[in-house]
Order: sequence, then C-alpha cells, then structure tokens
Amino acid sequence: MQESKPHVVIIGAGHAGGTVAALLRQYEFTGPITLIGEEPIPPYHRPPLSKAWLKGEANAESLALKPLEFYAENNIDLWLNARVARVDRVGKKVAFLNGNILAYDILIIATGSRAIYPPIPRADSGGIMLLRTAADAEQLKATIGPGKRLAIVGGGYIGLEVAASVRGMGAEVVILEREERILKRVANPILAKFFQSYHEARGVTFELGCHVASFGSENGQVTGVWLGDGRGLLCDAVVIGAGVHPNEDIAKEAGLECDHGILVDLEARTSDPYIFAIGDVTRRPMPIYDCLFRMESVPNALEQAKQAAAAITGRPAPAVEVPWQWSDQYDLKMQIAGYPFEADTVLVRGEPTSAKFALFHLKGDQVQAVEAINSPPEFMMGRQLIGSRKAVDRVKLADPTISMKEVVAERDA
Ligand code: FAD
Repeated sequence: MQESKPHVVIIGAGHAGGTVAALLRQYEFTGPITLIGEEPIPPYHRPPLSKAWLKGEANAESLALKPLEFYAENNIDLWLNARVARVDRVGKKVAFLNGNILAYDILIIATGSRAIYPPIPRADSGGIMLLRTAADAEQLKATIGPGKRLAIVGGGYIGLEVAASVRGMGAEVVILEREERILKRVANPILAKFFQSYHEARGVTFELGCHVASFGSENGQVTGVWLGDGRGLLCDAVVIGAGVHPNEDIAKEAGLECDHGILVDLEARTSDPYIFAIGDVTRRPMPIYDCLFRMESVPNALEQAKQAAAAITGRPAPAVEVPWQWSDQYDLKMQIAGYPFEADTVLVRGEPTSAKFALFHLKGDQVQAVEAINSPPEFMMGRQLIGSRKAVDRVKLADPTISMKEVVAERDA
C-alpha cells in the first residue's frame, strides 16, 4: 500500500510563504502544497515598493517572486484573496473568513507583519496611506507628482526611502518625527545626522520632536497636518511609516507560544510539532548574540524558509546566517549586517561627508554590527567578522587606507 503524502498548507503568500513553497519542490517534496494569501496577486518583492516601483523603475513582472505559471507547473495550489481566520490545532484544519475549511498535515504560518495605524484624529481621510502592499504603493504613485506636497509621519528607513523616491518625482516632502532625531529605534546619531543632512541637501524638510495632533481634511480628503504646538502644515497626501506589528493573532488564538512574534527554533518549529512559522511574524533565536529577536527583512524570510523546508524534507538544518538588510536612498546604497547588541564603541571608517563610509559597532574587540554606506567591502568583510566572532585590530579597522582584506587577514594570522 502506498503511504499518503503529507499536505503542507502555508498561510501567507508573501516573501517567506512563496519562497518556502518553491524550496519544498526544489528539495523534492512531492506531497500537496497549498499556498494561501489574502492579497490579490502572487508573492512579490516588497522592498521595491518604496524604491524602484515608486520611481517607475519596476513593473509587475519584475516585482513578482515567480511568474504565475510557476505555481501550476510546480503543482503548488495558490489561493489568492483568501484570508485564514482561525487555526484548529486539534482537528489540524484552518478556517477561512468565508467559512471554508481546509485540512493540513503540516502548517506553515508566514503571515508577515502589518503597518501600524496610529490613532490620530481623521487618519481615515482620503490621501492618508500606509505602505505595506503593492496596492498601497500603487495608490501613492497615483497621488504624488510634481508640485504635490507629501507629509511622512515617521523618520524610519521606509519614510526616508519614500522621501528620496518622491523627491525624484518632483514632489515636496516634510518628514514628521516624534523623537528628537530620525532613525532613533534603528540607528545611531552619526548615521541619523548623515541621512538628515543628505535629505535636507535634496530639499526634504524635517520636523523633529513633533507630535501629530490631528489631520486636517476637506470633503473627506486630507489637506494638512496639525502639530501639537498648534502649527498647521499643508499637504496633499500623507504616508504613515510608524513601524509594523507581527500578524501573530491567529497563532496566539490557537495557543502557540508567542512573545511579540511567534516563538520558533532554528528549524522554524513552533511550540506545536506540526506547525512551522517563518518571516516577519516570528521571534527567532540569534545564536551569534545569544538572544531571541524579531527581524523584518527579506534575508531573514529566506533563511527561515530554508530552515522550514529542510526540516520538513528531512535535510540537515542550514548553517545560521549573519543577519543583513539594506536601504537605497538617492544614490546611496546602505548595507547593514548584524545588530549592535551590547556594543560599547562605534568606530567610523571613512568620512561621512564623502557619502562613502562605514560604522562598525564593537563589543570589546568583536564586531557586533556594521552599517556601510556605498562601501561593499566594509559590508562583506564586516559580515564575515561578525560571523567569526574573532577579535579585530581597532586601529587598523578605523584606517580606510588599510584595505578590509588586510584587516581580516591580520585577524586570521
Ligand atoms: P510579507 O511579505 O508581509 O507576507 C505576508 C503575507 O501574508 C501578506 O501578503 C499578507 O497579506 C498575508 N497574510 C497575513 N495574514 C494572513 C491571513 N490570515 N490569511 C492569508 N494571508 C495572510 N526588507 C529588506 O530586507 N530590505 C529592504 O530594503 C526592505 N524594504 C521594504 C520596503 C517596504 C515598503 C516594505 C513594506 C518592506 C520592506 N522590507 C525590506 C521588509 C520585507 O519586505 C519583509 O521583511 C518581508 O516581506 C517579510 O516577508 P514575510 O513573508 O514574512 O511577510
């Protein structure tokens, strides 16, 4: 008698979900795969939404993770416009918003995260947008153009990327940040100052330490922003870039262990042996730093997709990667490796005013993280140094006349 093959159901047809479906086939998994997504289009790359897509340098084809035919050709059942409302772990079933039920043998939760919608009066006015989906980006692109004024609530990387892109489209931009500096949550003051100056030199204005009290609107359409100090700023549109929340609600309701993200191990396993979770929705171990962390990046989604696909197909767990991500603004390519946990020193290699430099975050003589602006060797070798945990010569690292190759070779000697 032939053994029946397990049915893998993936909730969330985003970067992680789309990747794990493709990897399962690549790893010769022959059972049925159902990939469920609430958006109307197949899995796509989100990073271009604030960059190339907004500037008109990407199209639907280049945005897609795989062409639509890929799913049928690989026997992956792709259900779009379908939202899972509940997971029944005892019955091993998922229930859809429309009442339908689907049984699984193995479940992968890849529901990502959602943009935070701050409770500001009249935030539901027309022209006030989040930027999480292709539909959001399409709306923004249609609204912005030469002479339009855009207010961006939140001076994080997404806000800065949007600002750079829409300046290129001829729009005026003001960034409203409640902290006294931009990038407070994710970067140190040197980098924040560099980005602010770079944007200001290209016409972006900043309101720092400001409280957005309410939005002004006329006939349901946004016309401006009221600040806590009583000032009003006119604008034609608003983008809210105030961070994201993990979409962990269905996992929590099903009783899976969660702590601001579904808790998983390095095989992407949750507290239920039949359920995996991957991508933005998880809080995962970071062995390099000996802690748990929730990452919001494409490389993390890819790494965890590999972990889950390997575990499901009985392959050895892949080697743990040094986390990394990137941000593109104007002609700046920033690459970040690691996280500056417990760093005691920030070492600047190169001159920020040249727009080609790197910040190394050190804990003792170990590199914890590197932020490299237009400096690929610093990023690549910095990433190596983070992974190896070996001591580095601080003096040499700070000297841009000594190549990174030499800095790393010195450490190996
Ligand atoms: P997602 O890609 O968000 O996919 C989750 C999917 O699940 C979504 O389609 C969602 O609709 C669906 N879903 C949720 N709940 C349900 C449900 N109950 N039923 C059915 N479907 C559901 N990362 C980088 O590394 N570099 C960058 O430069 C970068 N830039 C970015 C720019 C923007 C504008 C955005 C929005 C993100 C950016 N990111 C960047 C982050 C990166 O895109 C995410 O980390 C990545 O998409 C995470 O993949 P994921 O599959 O976990 O989540």
